[in-house]
Amino acid sequence: MSVERIPPKRREGLLFEKSVAGKRGCDVPLWDGPEPEALSPSYLRGEIPGFPELSEREVVRHFTRLSKLNYANDEGLYPLGSCTMKYNPKVNEKIARLEGFGEAHPLLPPEAAQGCLQVMADLERYLCEITGMDAFTLQPAAGAQGEFTGIKMVRAYHESRGNPRQVVLIPDSAHGTNPASAHLCGYRVEQIASDERGCVHLGFLKERMRDDVAVLMLTNPNTLGVFEPEIGEICRVLHQGGGLVYLDGANLNAFVGVARPGDMGVDVMHSNLHKTFSTPHGGGGPGSGPVGVKDTLARFLPVPRVIRDEKGWRLSADFPESIGKVHSFFGNFGMHARAVAYILANGAQGLREIAESAVLNANYLRKRLEGVYHLPYTSPSLHEVIFSDKYLEKHGVKTLDVAKRLMDYGFHPPTIYFPLIVKGALMIEPTESEGIEDLDAFVDAMLRIAEEAAEDPEVVRSAPHTTPVGRLDEAAAARRPVLRWNTDPEKSRPD
Ligand SMILES: *Cc1c(COP(=O)(O)O)cnc(C)c1O
Repeated sequence: MSVERIPPKRREGLLFEKSVAGKRGCDVPLWDGPEPEALSPSYLRGEIPGFPELSEREVVRHFTRLSKLNYANDEGLYPLGSCTMKYNPKVNEKIARLEGFGEAHPLLPPEAAQGCLQVMADLERYLCEITGMDAFTLQPAAGAQGEFTGIKMVRAYHESRGNPRQVVLIPDSAHGTNPASAHLCGYRVEQIASDERGCVHLGFLKERMRDDVAVLMLTNPNTLGVFEPEIGEICRVLHQGGGLVYLDGANLNAFVGVARPGDMGVDVMHSNLHKTFSTPHGGGGPGSGPVGVKDTLARFLPVPRVIRDEKGWRLSADFPESIGKVHSFFGNFGMHARAVAYILANGAQGLREIAESAVLNANYLRKRLEGVYHLPYTSPSLHEVIFSDKYLEKHGVKTLDVAKRLMDYGFHPPTIYFPLIVKGALMIEPTESEGIEDLDAFVDAMLRIAEEAAEDPEVVRSAPHTTPVGRLDEAAAARRPVLRWNTDPEKSRPD
């Protein structure tokens, strides 16, 4: 079946547009006794201006239709490179929703929250075991906040030795959050060029390493999916110059259960629970980006920390050199419960198989697409593979067109135009969740799109054809977002 023949999905209007005064849904009353005395009418909300009025059927159908327009990991392959969009096993959800976890209030006294505190202590311990670090904080709500927390601790470490230093070194293949985090902590960023393998240029690093360098922020495997073979030597160069090594652990899925950053010489790292440990991801959160440190940095970890005394687990802020709090309470606890469930469900052997299968899946895609799509770096791929649009250029077809066309074939597009050092990058990360049928279906779509680019480039250039709206002006959407519904439709519409 040709995808062009599938009619585009209908645009779903806004509830505000469908509102008709006086329409109502029906429900049993919450309470039909007398008004509670304590609640003065002045606290009760009256009319909500512009509140849409619809029947129950209209509301249910509206949200059901919207949910069908959404693309989710529960629906199919989500090959968004660097983001590790793996399937979230339902056992995680079951555990996180247990009443003692899901209903626990963050202000419960420790005696009434022993189970939750133990989950957090267990997760810290498992993460130490998995990564080879000595201590973890679970507070940061994302990888980016983990970087900020980690670099803050790096700064505290150097300050405790009399000089915070000035520079953070970052390879040119790094994620944009790395320089942003360094900058927020008051450091100047200097870029380290990659060599022809896509790895850190060791000669350049050695030459640049002086006593103004606070830390190197390294992603391993890097965003080209390439493992840094000289990681041991890189750490030695930094340490000899009195600097530290920060590992952006977003790509831990490539080697979880196989190798440990702590054994490679890394001093501080974050792990994205919503990537490697399968907790839900996307839609703006909540995420979780725990940070692990070696003993040399442990005294700077955020407070409160989970500790154990003769009465059991409790929280302690009694760490005078701590950088302080980076999140309300102790981070996103629901994510901690899910990650513990995932780690225990898989066990040590299972975690290793995750990494092995993730690497196998990425290399299967690489093998089947290589030659049709251009492979800018030929170093061995780990968990993701980066192609470019070089072979499609002659047909006037670009990476963005391929990404949009994939939507017509029922797939979420991969990450595009990142890493920045690859022109027209298509960054594909299938993760271990996918079976051979799903991988083959994706490959078939990619191969078909390459054929279309040669035979009928316009159909690719004007994609998507099956979605409620076609090509959007993405720059305008970012520059002039319409965030508030105005009851005067003229004022709500972008012109
Ligand atoms: C995802 C990612 C980050 C940022 O993590 P968030 O949890 O999205 O804040 C940083 N570096 C790399 C390489 C990533 O893939």
